[in-house]
Amino acid sequence: MKDTDIDRLSAAVRDVIDFPKEGIVFKDIAPVLADGALFRLAIDGLVESIGGTPVDKIVGIDARGFIFGAAVADRIGAGLVPVRKKGKLPWRTRSVSYALEYGESVIEIHEDAISPGERVLLVDDLLATGGTSAAALQLVRELGGEIVGASFFIELAFLDGRKAIHEAADGFPISALLTY
Ligand code: AMP
Repeated sequence: MKDTDIDRLSAAVRDVIDFPKEGIVFKDIAPVLADGALFRLAIDGLVESIGGTPVDKIVGIDARGFIFGAAVADRIGAGLVPVRKKGKLPWRTRSVSYALEYGESVIEIHEDAISPGERVLLVDDLLATGGTSAAALQLVRELGGEIVGASFFIELAFLDGRKAIHEAADGFPISALLTY
């Protein structure tokens, strides 16, 4: 992806100070999604970061991960598996609790969402502490999925999320389009 494209995307991400609580600078991606050309550019970048690696299923994380995950899945012809906050999935689930940058949470996956050996790519809007992604990857591994990568639109590098992910599961590429 060209530097000018990265700059255009970065310029559209809005910093919201003290949301959802004091001390957090929330990266609001709504202006990117609301602009057809920028949204397409963001999906182009995420698809490019996969680099032709075969993927059976994309795991998208509740809720903004669904937006990017679904668009990428459609482009590459992969299935989409939602990892959701507790109590949202109707079928039998596996769940895991984890620490957030702001609080604690439980996420769940349908127990039949991934078959053993399926190649799984994790997609989310933003990598912060990595707690959410590490938890999602734990669920993928419990179901026997083979993790082939993790792709983010934004990475807050100062929070060291890559380290947390690699402590949970190692040996696959992690990419982000915008790094702060
Ligand atoms: P973490 O588990 O700390 O990596 O947090 C990642 C999840 O929380 C992502 O799904 C993001 O949507 C959300 N998140 C965490 N921090 C921020 C932030 N500063 N701005 C926007 N979203 C955030």
